[in-house]
Amino acid sequence: MTVTMRFDAAVLRSYEGEFAVEEVVLNGGPADGEVLVRIAGCGMCRTDLAVRRSAGRSPLPAVLGHEGAGVVVETGGPHTGLSVGDHVVLSFDSCGHCRNCLGAAPAYCDSFAALNLFGGRKEDAARFTDAAGGELAPRWFGQSSFAEYAMVPARNAVRVDRSLPVDLLGPLGCGFLTGAGAVFNSFGAGPGDTVVVLGAGAVGLAAVMAATAAGAVTVAVDRYPERLDLAERFGAIPLRAGPADHASGPDPVPRPGLAERIQRLTDGGAQYALDTTASAPLINEALRALRPTGHLGLVARLRTALPLDPGTLDRGRRISHICEGDAVPALLIPRLTGLWQAGKFPFDQLIRRYPLAAVNEAERDCDAGRVVKPVLVPERSAR
Ligand SMILES: [Zn+2]
Ligand SMILES: [Zn+2]
Repeated sequence: MTVTMRFDAAVLRSYEGEFAVEEVVLNGGPADGEVLVRIAGCGMCRTDLAVRRSAGRSPLPAVLGHEGAGVVVETGGPHTGLSVGDHVVLSFDSCGHCRNCLGAAPAYCDSFAALNLFGGRKEDAARFTDAAGGELAPRWFGQSSFAEYAMVPARNAVRVDRSLPVDLLGPLGCGFLTGAGAVFNSFGAGPGDTVVVLGAGAVGLAAVMAATAAGAVTVAVDRYPERLDLAERFGAIPLRAGPADHASGPDPVPRPGLAERIQRLTDGGAQYALDTTASAPLINEALRALRPTGHLGLVARLRTALPLDPGTLDRGRRISHICEGDAVPALLIPRLTGLWQAGKFPFDQLIRRYPLAAVNEAERDCDAGRVVKPVLVPERSAR
């Protein structure tokens, strides 16, 4: 049984500062129901970077990272359902016993914010510290995977086939699961449906791949041609949104709107639309592009009020917020790896690997749109 482990992790100490890759200390082995995972790779998600804007709600110093994947090296107790050597993808945390967890909707767990975002899991503060013994925030999303190792509840760890490239699988636990889950679970899109995806980032492109795999006609909207090229490669009809489509405030000049262009491409209107942009003007365009009974899903957090134009929800149209793709990770992740093996969910094409030590470069590239999905790969130090 492990007593004290020292390993490298990317620690964020201030909301404005850079990550520092430094030694951290984990005291004690896995508690009952936990597993220790050697991280093979961890995706960087927008939610990691949003900690900088959390206005103090997400505690620091912290080890972020919540798209980890790796190999189980130690298990706690007989009931984890996992064995040493298992390959696992780590996903979001949930309590397992509230109404929504019991109803197979763990993304809407009563304790979601506390367990995943705000350090609410009650842990012994001395358990996870920096090299000098200074306290670190409780684990982020039940994992804190910008690190060589993560101690996680077995409930968050989904076993995957050992023949898969485990270092690349982490984003299946959040970003790719969010986009694909919205299409498969929230929409239930199938052949002949029409799906519009606003914003062709990691979540949007996963939605495009899923919609294409489901046999739906898919339209991808973005302002960046390189992202639209990717969307087109994954089966979408690319539609460029100009700055005018993002403009807010009075715009008295009539112009062919985005909604009309989408309607022309979708035989009169889309059945489903997924917004990843949180832009109120784009959301209104998407609603106007829906056919009657159409469903618009929002995945990004709105930062402002969302005024809706009159009539946008008429005739059975609806709008909902979708968290983590309405997924039960242990069901959706194997489905996504199966689609990948069949050549129908080529998520690996969105990934660029960075050494863990290059975490700040990965963040800069992410912010600048130079990479869709960075995956941080720890280099094994010989300790
Ligand atoms: Zn719960
Ligand atoms: Zn995420």
